[in-house]
Amino acid sequence: MAAKKSLPGSYTRRSTFLPFSPPDITDEEISAVVDTLRSGWITTGPKTRAFEAEFCEFVEAESALALNSCTAGLHLALAALEIGPGDEVITTPMTFCASVNVIEHVGATPVLVDIDPEVLTLDPARVAEAITPRTKAIMPVHYAGHPAEMRPLLELAEQHSLYIIEDAAHSLPASYEGRTIGGIGDFTAFSFYATKNLTTGEGGMLTGSPEYIERARVLSLHGMNRDAWKRYDAEGSWYYEVIRPGFKYNMTDIQAAIGRVQLARLPEMQERRRRVVERYNEAFSQSDALQIPVSRPNVEHAWHLYVLRLNLDQLTINRARFIEELKARNIGASVHFIPIHLHPFYRDKYGWQPEDFPRAYEEYQRLISLPLHPRLSDEDVTDVIEAVLNVVEAYRN
Ligand SMILES: *Cc1c(COP(=O)(O)O)cnc(C)c1O
Repeated sequence: MAAKKSLPGSYTRRSTFLPFSPPDITDEEISAVVDTLRSGWITTGPKTRAFEAEFCEFVEAESALALNSCTAGLHLALAALEIGPGDEVITTPMTFCASVNVIEHVGATPVLVDIDPEVLTLDPARVAEAITPRTKAIMPVHYAGHPAEMRPLLELAEQHSLYIIEDAAHSLPASYEGRTIGGIGDFTAFSFYATKNLTTGEGGMLTGSPEYIERARVLSLHGMNRDAWKRYDAEGSWYYEVIRPGFKYNMTDIQAAIGRVQLARLPEMQERRRRVVERYNEAFSQSDALQIPVSRPNVEHAWHLYVLRLNLDQLTINRARFIEELKARNIGASVHFIPIHLHPFYRDKYGWQPEDFPRAYEEYQRLISLPLHPRLSDEDVTDVIEAVLNVVEAYRN
């Protein structure tokens, strides 16, 4: 065992590094993969279709399409709705680059709107001000797992005939005013990336109406009007037609096999996340140097991320140094996100200054994502709490 190094106060550092977000994979997922590899069918096929049906039921969607990423889902949603050059899509600066990159991919213009600083999702009042005759869609991001304020966004979409494409990479499972995320907007895209609440290594799911999902399905596999697994089925045929130049975004049965086990385990994994959040909230609400995340009463939060905010005027160090201090205490942490308008491509193309979206910029400078995943033991949680409180104590203003 590594020697424990003493840091200020009576604090003792944990002996091994606690990673920020390792995947939670059990023997069940491993057997499911092995079974698939032995089954004779390893790409899109019966397991992918079964996963789509189970997922669809779980999020109370009408229809679902399994893909190789959430990014693919967002791209297909825009392409299926024929959003392109001359069109504007409203989204948030407080997101991962994928949400905005896909708007560039279809040749449309991303219009960033500043966030509500309490929950860090799109501010609907500002969305209303940003709508022009060229606006085609609003893309809310359910940041950290907290659903965006959907009611006013749906009203705006109705008034101005706009599509709603939800980036639900963080929000499985979540709900807004009793409606499950996945069954609300025109399209909703989920991520099964390695760090997400449900993982297939890489993967994603797109939900929507049967008509929209059928359009996206054709585009997801080269624009062919029949899937390969149907073509090679006993009753299938060799014939297909390309009706649009599509993409190669399909999920494999190997991924779907992992996803089906993860979906069955999700309620239990979520229960663990909620318990960890309760303990963090209880501990960190005691310190005036820290601001705990909010979960509004009209939502069910998916708790993908635990985003703690530093009250920097109470501390002598900045956020970057705070993360280094946690690392010195063997605690992994991260930042979600570097706002879109600070990245060189977007900053230069649209001439954006940091202060153009002042709330996103200000909150960005004081937020930290702490480890939050089902594999955290009670001791791990204690270690995170003690490390955070020790850094606060050591650098209090
Ligand atoms: C992870 C993530 C994505 C991308 O998901 P992939 O499945 O990796 O494509 C998109 N948006 C947000 C907000 C994310 O966190």
